[in-house]
Amino acid sequence: MTDATNPIIGIDLGTTNSVVAVVINGQPQVLDIDGRKTLPSVVGIGAEGQLITGMVARNQLAAFPDRTVASIKRQMGTMDPVLLGDQSFTPPEISAMILRRLRDGASRALGQDITRAVVTVPAYFDENQRQATREAGELAGLTVERIINEPTAATLVYHAQSQDRKHIAVYDFGGGTFDVSVVRMESGVIEVLSSQGDTKLGGDDLDDAIMQHVADQFQDQHGIDLRADEQARYRLLHACEKVKIALSTVDATSIIEEFIAEKDGQPLNLSCTIDRETLHELIQPMVERTIDCVGRALRDASLTIHQVDDLVLVGGSTRLALVEEALRREFLRESSRAVDPDLAVALGAAVQGAMLQGQNVGPVLVDVTSHTLGIEACEGMSFAGPELVFDPIIHRNSPLPARYEQAYSTMHDEQETAEIHVLQGEYDDIERNQSIGKFKLNLQQGDGKHRKIVVRFDLTLDGMLKVTATQPASGVSNELTIENALSQFVASQRDRVQARLGELFEASSELIDQNDLPLQSEFHDNISIDGAHDTVGESKLATIARVKEQYPEAVGLLEKAEALRPNVQGDDAADLETISNGLMHALESGDESRIASLSTELDDVLFYVQ
Ligand code: AMP
Repeated sequence: MTDATNPIIGIDLGTTNSVVAVVINGQPQVLDIDGRKTLPSVVGIGAEGQLITGMVARNQLAAFPDRTVASIKRQMGTMDPVLLGDQSFTPPEISAMILRRLRDGASRALGQDITRAVVTVPAYFDENQRQATREAGELAGLTVERIINEPTAATLVYHAQSQDRKHIAVYDFGGGTFDVSVVRMESGVIEVLSSQGDTKLGGDDLDDAIMQHVADQFQDQHGIDLRADEQARYRLLHACEKVKIALSTVDATSIIEEFIAEKDGQPLNLSCTIDRETLHELIQPMVERTIDCVGRALRDASLTIHQVDDLVLVGGSTRLALVEEALRREFLRESSRAVDPDLAVALGAAVQGAMLQGQNVGPVLVDVTSHTLGIEACEGMSFAGPELVFDPIIHRNSPLPARYEQAYSTMHDEQETAEIHVLQGEYDDIERNQSIGKFKLNLQQGDGKHRKIVVRFDLTLDGMLKVTATQPASGVSNELTIENALSQFVASQRDRVQARLGELFEASSELIDQNDLPLQSEFHDNISIDGAHDTVGESKLATIARVKEQYPEAVGLLEKAEALRPNVQGDDAADLETISNGLMHALESGDESRIASLSTELDDVLFYVQ
């Protein structure tokens, strides 16, 4: 059992996969969702118009890209509309659907309603992206007790295995983002010295580079651009991800996709082989970018690589042979596999959650801010008017929580108000930084002393910023909490969105529960023709007869899957279920290309399981 009555779960809300964990008997443990430790961060609208999440949604991505969305984390911090079928959502709403699924899964696993969580974000997420994540949690009915950086969370687990004083670099290369943090651990305190990263660089980009290469070859050969057709593009992208993963263990592998396009009324198949050398050539520039980031993070921490005791790898993309090779070549050392690259972040978040509840499970955490925060200030006058620049108040890599203040004077004596424009970024030029809020301070007139204004920045461990401006001579002051300034939703709108998500989940809960069951598919019941299945009507039987006649191989595969079902467990059972479900839907809708691709997938899994 958990060590708290209302436990705080830890959530790694990943670009590709999400993970939920909790501390039980002093140990962080991952909670299974659908019998798996990771939930694909994919959301969709199913054939019946119901909300689907996780593996079921991932399996329909290639066939129904118009009503499925993946990698939403890359859009967090924007309010760009995301279309799912005929409905429009915002990125925080889509993330909320994933969080809600994790929350429901955790509640079920722990036998109690879970309402509190620590959620992780890339260290390089800005205030806006953090706020969007926090709001996604709230929309999912969770109180987000703390937002922590992913590499910092991984360090909490690493630390649990080693109590010595150390400097480590956590290299976190996931599906959508790259991050590196340099950390000092000493006497039960973890101090993050620097963080660097790229929120637009991850495994998805590597898949895309392979896809571009294969699509170019196909175009040269057949004069058809597979990227122009959304379904073909997704199928190819999915196949390229598989190639990338396979090339971690084998030297060469093939992509075979039947009926991927059509020319002059004839179906075209895609068949090509990719070897490790080609993969490495394609992805080398991106891996180099990560190495440059490590160099910058070390410089920011004023350390050389020789002063770093361990280079800890986190995130699925660190399984690439090229990543290990590049790190070895650059830093002349082997990287550490001390933590599980897929689970460490969620486990660390769970440790942080337990620590917030006063449990003695981990060290004290001192994090840093990954961006500089400051205000717009006037540096002098020119012909064009005042010369405005960005004046930093809290510098990047300052330890958190941070409180700094700076004094300014008004531009002229009779000035009645001062506008405080808060920005985040690393440039002198205001335009190149991100504006995160503005407020006014009404000033009192008086002697020279009244010209002085003090601006104070308070930044919490969560990255929430409070800015206070005071006129010391009169005592007047005004403040802005960036949590509100950055809010993506006004309160009434948030309530509406929350209610809408609640309805969607309620409408889909029956189906989601069915997804949790191993291989219990409606269509299989129908297919066993002796079928006294209550719900089978005439038309359904007609469909079955047609399907059996038209696609005997696909139906044979489904029957084989059904027969093997009782003997298969864990991830394999879930794979069988989701692929079988996808194939059944494809059969029902007569989607030939999908039937072909899913039959191949099912055949592969059956071969493996047998
Ligand atoms: P994460 O965000 O940490 O879940 O990582 C997901 C990313 O890791 C995806 O882009 C996967 O394609 C990638 N990935 C998982 N396993 C491997 C592997 N063996 N080789 C290369 N990339 C992998």
